[in-house]
Amino acid sequence: MEKIKMTTPLVEMDGDEMTRILWKIIKDDLLLPFIDLNTEYYDLGLEHRNATDDKVTFDSAYATKKYGVAVKCATITPNAARMTEYDLKEMWKSPNGTIRAILDGTVFRAPIVVKGIEPCVKNWEKPITIARHAYGDVYKASEMKIPGAGRAELVFTGADGTVQRELIHEFDSEGIIQGMHNINGSIASFARSCFNYALDTKQDLWFATKDTISKKYDHTFKDIFQEIFDAEYKDRFDKAGIEYFYTLIDDAVARVMKSKGGYIWACKNYDGDVMSDMISSAFGSLAMMTSVLVSPEGFYEYEAAHGTVQRHYYKHLKGEETSTNSVATIFAWTGALRKRGELDNLPDLTAFADKLEKATIQTIEAGKMTKDLALITKLENVTVLNSENFIKEIRKTLENML
Ligand code: NAP
Ligand code: MG
Repeated sequence: MEKIKMTTPLVEMDGDEMTRILWKIIKDDLLLPFIDLNTEYYDLGLEHRNATDDKVTFDSAYATKKYGVAVKCATITPNAARMTEYDLKEMWKSPNGTIRAILDGTVFRAPIVVKGIEPCVKNWEKPITIARHAYGDVYKASEMKIPGAGRAELVFTGADGTVQRELIHEFDSEGIIQGMHNINGSIASFARSCFNYALDTKQDLWFATKDTISKKYDHTFKDIFQEIFDAEYKDRFDKAGIEYFYTLIDDAVARVMKSKGGYIWACKNYDGDVMSDMISSAFGSLAMMTSVLVSPEGFYEYEAAHGTVQRHYYKHLKGEETSTNSVATIFAWTGALRKRGELDNLPDLTAFADKLEKATIQTIEAGKMTKDLALITKLENVTVLNSENFIKEIRKTLENML
């Protein structure tokens, strides 16, 4: 069989620990035999980040801006223990944080749904994708403890010297206050990323805030989304047969629980933090969550939602067998290859990505899976496979399909 050709390089960001081991097996067994893989390789493994003073992370993000699509392996975010373990020159920042700051995007997380791994919420038939605004609000807030009686105010001094004041509270005893902000430009980027992703994936978009209580702050989020939707997206949504729908956050939560799934739920920063953990655990497993960063300019970076699975890696180093789930990492590759195929008009590449995803799901639905899934599946007669043999089983399923 002739290998599938690629025209534009895909930005490949290698990573750390167990996911780095899986990365190589996935490439060797599932990709290289079928595709003339054209990647620009960046080694974001911690050793190489340290050797390059983290320049490699910045370079990989700029390359994503140049070519448009990246696939990333999970990476270590250093802490004190990693400083000693890797003899680091500095406690390098989280690569995801660096990449996100350069691409200015929104992260979309979606569960991979397979028969036999049922969500806790029995009416959820399709995945629910969470889009979390990744800037501001309580994550960039200033806080103060109030020692006793006194007056707390919000004060804004304009560049021209004009002053706006708003009373927060006349305290007559101890208390607490908090000041937070957001930027209209960041909210607009968030809105466009969400509308673009909804069009891309042909799913409805839900957005919710508490605008009835927060008449200026949350209401601004609601207004910006609506203005951009009406001016730039309404016609395209109508044509695609999808809907944009705004409601109150409490109503949204109630509707999500009763829904069948199959839509994107855009969340403010805090709501997204909390709700994405609820959605991922209710769907079954972190190892079955995909994650893609979409920039407002239309750049894409695909990855798995989980980390480097350190505990499994230490077992692997001791020569013990591991059963680490590679599904989310495989789907990071298929997501990136499909997007490359769409952008470069390479139907064979897009079709291959679809088939590899199908083969992965079929393998699990046939009862062949890693230990984390075997523990939660409703299927009977399950075969628990080690990390490598699970990928080899997917290869067999894929070859039968091709
Ligand atoms: P983790 O790597 O996500 O793993 C936590 C636990 O979840 C594992 O010990 C394992 O449970 C289970 N798990 C996660 N993924 C799995 C998979 N694919 N297959 C089977 N089980 C899986 O999180 P962590 O241990 O907290 O973090 C390890 C490193 O990853 C840290 O250095 C952190 O900085 C980094 N990290 C990176 C990213 C990223 O690059 N996007 C995200 C998060 C964390 P059992 O041990 O019970 O089997
Ligand atoms: Mg959280």
